[in-house]
Amino acid sequence: MTAADRQDHQAFAAEIAKRRTGDPVVVPHVVGGEERFDGELIGREDPGHPSLTVSAYHDAPAELVQLAVATSRAAQQEWAKVPLSTRIEHVRRAIDYVADAAQEWAVRVALEVGKSYAGAQAEGVEVRDILRCYTEYAERPGAFEDERTADPAGFANDSVLRPYGVFGVITPFNYPIVQAAGPTIGALIAGNGVVVKTSHQGPWSGQAVYEMCQAMDLPTGLVNIVHGADEPGKALTASDIDGISFTGSVAVGRSIMKSFTNGPYARPVIAEMGGKNPVIVTDTADLEAAADGIVFSAFDLGGQKCSALSRVLVTPGAHDRLVELVAERTGRVVVADPTDADAFAGPVVSAEALARFERIVGQAREEHFTVSGGERLDGDGYFVRPAVVSSVPADHTLSTTEHFLPFLTISQVPSFEEALSAANATPMGLTAGIYTGDIDEARAFLDGIEAGCVDVNVPGHATTGWWPGPQTFGGWKASGSTGVQTLGKWYTQQFARQQARKLP
Ligand code: GLU
Repeated sequence: MTAADRQDHQAFAAEIAKRRTGDPVVVPHVVGGEERFDGELIGREDPGHPSLTVSAYHDAPAELVQLAVATSRAAQQEWAKVPLSTRIEHVRRAIDYVADAAQEWAVRVALEVGKSYAGAQAEGVEVRDILRCYTEYAERPGAFEDERTADPAGFANDSVLRPYGVFGVITPFNYPIVQAAGPTIGALIAGNGVVVKTSHQGPWSGQAVYEMCQAMDLPTGLVNIVHGADEPGKALTASDIDGISFTGSVAVGRSIMKSFTNGPYARPVIAEMGGKNPVIVTDTADLEAAADGIVFSAFDLGGQKCSALSRVLVTPGAHDRLVELVAERTGRVVVADPTDADAFAGPVVSAEALARFERIVGQAREEHFTVSGGERLDGDGYFVRPAVVSSVPADHTLSTTEHFLPFLTISQVPSFEEALSAANATPMGLTAGIYTGDIDEARAFLDGIEAGCVDVNVPGHATTGWWPGPQTFGGWKASGSTGVQTLGKWYTQQFARQQARKLP
């Protein structure tokens, strides 16, 4: 941390300490521009101090969700007629607001989700950069229209992208602002209304997206926001909404896709789902660099990222040394409250996540795999020392199931070819990396790996670190639904449908 970062961290820590002594923030639903408090009141605990309730939301009843969709639909009729360039101009108005709000957003994310400073303040900075990217891409010539050749019969033809209507945006806890903001921005630029359903583990953080939209000066009721756990999400997908953007688990994403074929016609589901992301390390790799990248990508945000690394596949000549280096670095990872300037990772998100962590670490020990770390740390917060489990076969369920926890398996495989086939042997295909000194292996990896985002010998990151501007982000196979990635120049167009026009 630089001296300036330390100063920013001090202000952040002081604000967290202050909020912890105050009353929980009750987060309202907002429908048609009005705050609503329908549904049972539920508190959100601070995962670093579970006895503290930091925020509270009302669990939105189905009727409120339906009202939100209808309200958005009415406002969208006008929004659809606003020219694309004007829509972009409205969305762009939020850029300065978001840059200014980033420190406040960081405090909310730290309190509700336990993110340490670097990750917490990156939420606002990433949203700012997403705003810049999507507005700029939408302005590029041909982004929303495809000029066709003149018709031999004299018509001036074209083919344009037009909005679907209203999109539901269902979001996860791990990026409670970024993952709600991105699809909202995409849907709005494309001319849709939006109903956001925040994560029940980050409602106050998610509310930031509504605040961002207010800075866009949009028609009242175009964007509505509701809070709650499963029920409002189900009500949203059971409504007559025109499309859903979902970020979360494969199981829930798949069930939304199924239910969305039950209406009068199939509707789009833009889903970003889980990962079981591998890295391959071969005998010729720089093992120090590999260990650095592995530990960062496996344990940043406590492994609670879709992009997190969770399985290492290593060839025999590199195995023992790599295990040693990874275990030694993992032992030095600072897991602490976000108010600690040295914290690398915070608590896991909930008592349920903690219990699952303890269960899989226990299973690894019972099955006599080599476990380093994996202990619960002192205090009542959900803090754990990340677990590194070696001597586990690459096809063992501990190495093939997504846990979304600071839990890493290292498996020895006989050759690069077998490592590649093990890397592809899960239904997931989000991120993947390789550390090798052999250019042919690197090429074969790029040709053969079944993943949407791939890293070759990247210092500091084995599978994570995808940022708007330099990168796009999205999964293949069970990890995604459309094959088009977020952060990219084709993302926003998914929220629109094409219309071919013959014009006199
Ligand atoms: N932007 C994150 C990263 O690059 C990925 C988002 C996610 O994991 O949900 O690591």
